[in-house]
Amino acid sequence: MAGERGFSYFGNRYPTHARDDLRAMAGAGATFVVHVMTEEDLAWNPGTIRDLVAATHRQGMTAWLDSWGAGGVFGGEAASYAVMAHPGACQKTNLGKHQPARCPRQPALRDPIARWLDAAVASDATIVLWDEPHLFILRPQRSDLRWSCRCARCRRAFLRRHGVPMPTL
Ligand SMILES: [Zn+2]
Repeated sequence: MAGERGFSYFGNRYPTHARDDLRAMAGAGATFVVHVMTEEDLAWNPGTIRDLVAATHRQGMTAWLDSWGAGGVFGGEAASYAVMAHPGACQKTNLGKHQPARCPRQPALRDPIARWLDAAVASDATIVLWDEPHLFILRPQRSDLRWSCRCARCRRAFLRRHGVPMPTL
């Protein structure tokens, strides 16, 4: 990666405009461009993502795809349809509070991530960026909600591994 320079290019879904921007990036010496592919893109814009990746390659740059906001467990402010579609698969705090992010142990997160990867491969992107994967970040002002995930699947996995119930604190 020494000597590599790139841009993050988020939000634009107009390939005609993107071509001008990508030409300017290549002219500025960029060697790669990070595009985001959100759940919304998967639902409504997969062809557009392929167009953006192809336009990036035509300018001689590597195209990355970022898993922005997917499932509520990757970095980025994009909303997650997955969280709304399967609220029972969301993370629970140590005190059992529902969180707006899917639990990584739930098939309802793993299956959409597999579809995201299939779409990334179909787009011909060179690199996939798992953007800041994390358990839900709790608000510091709620000191009683310390961590997640304590959903039923996570509690069962904890019990199998450690032989004792998962603690609440
Ligand atoms: Zn869980």
